This record gives sequence, structure tokens and C-alpha cells, in this order.
Amino acid sequence: MDTTRFLLVTGGSRGIGAAVARQAAAAGWHVAVNYTRDGEAAEAVAAEVRAAGRRAITLQADVADEAQVEAMFARLDAEGVLGGLVNNAGVVDVAQRLDEMSLARLQRMFGINVIGSMLCARAAVRRLSTRHGGAGGPIVNVSSVASRLGAPGQYLDYAASKGAIDVFTIGLARELATEGVRVNAVRPGIIDTDIHASGGQPERAQQMTPMIPMQRAGTADEVASAVVWLLSDGASYTTGALLDVTGGR
Ligand code: NAP
Repeated sequence: MDTTRFLLVTGGSRGIGAAVARQAAAAGWHVAVNYTRDGEAAEAVAAEVRAAGRRAITLQADVADEAQVEAMFARLDAEGVLGGLVNNAGVVDVAQRLDEMSLARLQRMFGINVIGSMLCARAAVRRLSTRHGGAGGPIVNVSSVASRLGAPGQYLDYAASKGAIDVFTIGLARELATEGVRVNAVRPGIIDTDIHASGGQPERAQQMTPMIPMQRAGTADEVASAVVWLLSDGASYTTGALLDVTGGR
């Protein structure tokens, strides 16, 4: 059996996930790049991982769909061994107040951001935990500073979904603390990626700079550095941590 240990990065085709894939490869990980729609972008990230001398595979799956998540992990099992997970896939939506939000919006938001992360973590725990005969391995969840700020008038559904990720991170970290699996989260502030355009505000990263103590948006690489540190043995006594990467916000 191929015992290559892969880091699975959900939503690895763009933005923060793509930066995590590149930096993880530089740190020595083989990388499985998950995506939903843009296979070409995922393949381009995989090519960069291979150029760094590591193995890479691309895995299409909607993390909110249990059957697709299970099939994704089964495909990874056929290529090697899961060594760690970054729950990065996430969505925002257009700015609305709660009194304007539809049920469909709330279900999509929580389906991808919360249940998707929990389904992927469940599949990972079944492979990584020593309780299940695994060799251990880290999990990093990508939360948001919105979980502290609430995002009123913008997308408090998103903020609430990230609040759930924070609590999930703390609970799972304690549940797995003696099973070789550290679980941590990063909470990015305003990071310059496509996500703002997907919420109908392509200029948001620039517009928000006066609100940021450092007076600039962050980069995907600045978040990826924190993720890759949390994945590393350098973070061997860090579990259940929520690491803000916000330029001081
Ligand atoms: P992005 O540029 O919009 O990229 C999102 C990624 O997630 C893409 O690779 C996308 O794949 C994937 N994705 C979306 N829905 C998915 C699903 N249902 N299943 C699997 N993959 C899915 O976003 P980003 O800014 O890099 O954000 C990454 C994470 O950081 C998210 O969890 C976000 O909430 C968090 N975050 C971002 C910021 C920020 O300011 N950018 C701040 C705080 C937190 P496809 O392209 O194939 O659809």
C-alpha cells in the first residue's frame, strides 16, 4: 500500500486554500486539493505542489454533501494515507440584515461552513485518531474574525457559522487531545481574495482598510503561514487555539 501521507485542503483551488496548499508543499506535505467548480484552478495548484517536489491530487466534492465527502476520502485512501486536514472551504453571501434572509440562504451557509467542516473532520478523525488505529495528524479549521464581531447588517449568518466553527474547534480539540489529533483554528480578518466579489463587494478588502489597525488587508499567504505553523510539530502543545490573523482588528 502507498503510505504517502496527504494533507487534504478543502477549497484548495483559490484564495487562502491555494496558498495553504503551496506553503504546505514547501513544508514537506503531499497535498490533496479539494474544489467544487473550478477543476482547472485546482489542477494549477496541484501542478505547483508537484513543482515543489511533492505529490498532489485534485478531488472534486461539495463538502456540504455527505456522499460526496465520503467518496472524496475514499478516493484519497486509494492514493495514499490521510495525514492532516485543513477545513478551509467556506462561503459568504450578499450583504443583508437577518430580517431579509431566506431559509435557503441560511441552510446553504450552515451546510457548507459548519456541516461541511464537521463532515470532513468526522471522516478525518476516523482515519487519523489513534482510537481508530490511525497515526495521528493535525486538523486546522478556517474560522473568521467575524465570529467575534458578528458582522451586523452584512452577514451575521456567516459570522454565526464561524462562531460555530470556533466552538467546534475547542470541543473537538478536547475530545481528541489524547488521540494524536490536534485541532486548531485561524480567524482571518479582511484578506484580499475572491470571496468579497462572491458576496457582491469586490472592493471590500480595499474599502475596509481604515477599520484595520495595520491599515491594510492581509494576504492569503499571511493566513497560510499561520495554518502551516499550526499543522507543524512546532505547534505540538497547541490544541483548541483560535489564532487571529487580522492586522490587529
Ligand atoms: P475564496 O477565494 O472564495 O475560495 C473559496 C474556496 O472554497 C474555493 O476553492 C472554492 O472552490 C471552495 N468552495 C466553496 N464552496 C465549496 C464547497 N461547498 N465545497 C468545497 N469547496 C468549496 O475564499 P477565501 O477568501 O480563500 O476563503 C477561504 C476561507 O477563509 C473560508 O472559510 C472563508 O470563510 C475564510 N475567511 C476568509 C476571509 C477573507 O477576507 N477572504 C476572512 C475570514 C475568513 P471552487 O472555486 O471550486 O468553487
